[in-house]
Amino acid sequence: MITRISQAEVYSPAALGVQQLLVAGNRIAGLAQQLDIQGAEVFELEASGCLLVPGFVDSLAHIIGGGGEGGFTTRTSEMQFADAARAGVTTLVGVLGTDAVTRTLTNLLAKASAFNELGVTCYCYTGSYQIPARTLMADVMEDLVLIDKFIGVGEVAIADHRSSQPTADELKKLASQARVGGMLAGKAGIVSVHVGSGASLLDPLHQAVNGTELSLRQFYPTHINRNQDVFAAGIRFAKAGGVIDFTTSTTAYDLKHGEVAAAQALALALEQQIPIANLTLSSDGNASLPLFNPQGELLGLEVGKVSSLYQSARTAVLDYQVSLSNAIAAISASPAAVLGLKHKGELAVGKAADLVLIHKDDLQIHSVYAKGRTMVQQQKALVFGTFENPPR
Ligand code: ZN
Repeated sequence: MITRISQAEVYSPAALGVQQLLVAGNRIAGLAQQLDIQGAEVFELEASGCLLVPGFVDSLAHIIGGGGEGGFTTRTSEMQFADAARAGVTTLVGVLGTDAVTRTLTNLLAKASAFNELGVTCYCYTGSYQIPARTLMADVMEDLVLIDKFIGVGEVAIADHRSSQPTADELKKLASQARVGGMLAGKAGIVSVHVGSGASLLDPLHQAVNGTELSLRQFYPTHINRNQDVFAAGIRFAKAGGVIDFTTSTTAYDLKHGEVAAAQALALALEQQIPIANLTLSSDGNASLPLFNPQGELLGLEVGKVSSLYQSARTAVLDYQVSLSNAIAAISASPAAVLGLKHKGELAVGKAADLVLIHKDDLQIHSVYAKGRTMVQQQKALVFGTFENPPR
């Protein structure tokens, strides 16, 4: 089956102007101003009034739920497939989080398999907040080499009262395991790092690479917009060559108490001359968003939303003058490169046919295609998990 999408303004994420894009099977087979095809049946998709961008890459999603910081009744629910698809997310990385006791890596892999079967591309990180990392095989290296879906380890918590208080030495050893495991398996072998609001900020990561052959890029710290201090430390980290990630799920309480909205954080970091390749957004979808007072007591909980990923990119464009190209890169090309996903995050011949059509007038999502298959058409999800309820 060949589909030709025409009349859309293409952001690859670079602004390419009006182009035609050809989808053959699950790949992009052509991208040019005019594509002539002979001898094949072509489905024509006329997309005037739309922008065509790569499917979004969400590097941190609690696909099997998370939380539990307020006891068993505060565990969040699993992510619904249709919610991810409606959000334009065609590639995601599932993680455990605080709880690696009642949440398991086997459950995580099963959920990722379900998402893959339903149509998107879903990877996972082995490990959780804690070091020593919870693994399926003997260690992180074996998990990365032997289990396809594991592309890194994390989110390992630092500077947080829920962390295992890892030493620089423990972080060093974990990073070296991830690096070598990743190399052997042809994967990024990234260490995803949950950064809390503790006073040590990103110092543990700087200390972990000091005196070693490791680079800051081995680490992928997230929640860098959680407050002004972490944000400032993140800018220093990025200026030293590291990649930083801003979390798009938030609460009114967090924003009122110092969190920098992800859209604004992206704009501020670009103003600081941080290259867009070093800046990403992730949703933290289905995470619990616990509200703690300064004494570490739990005040309440909300739930992260996968839809916040694109909505933050959209806000960055509409409210913070970030170019559409940069806003889209932060949720496509940049995370795909960090995660070592060579066929993702970009519209180019040979890449995966993961596509999002966006209305030009209001910048809302119109249609979503994953590996060439229609997931969302005119804002209506077409694919649902077996036990998800499609609207009647
Ligand atoms: Zn986290």
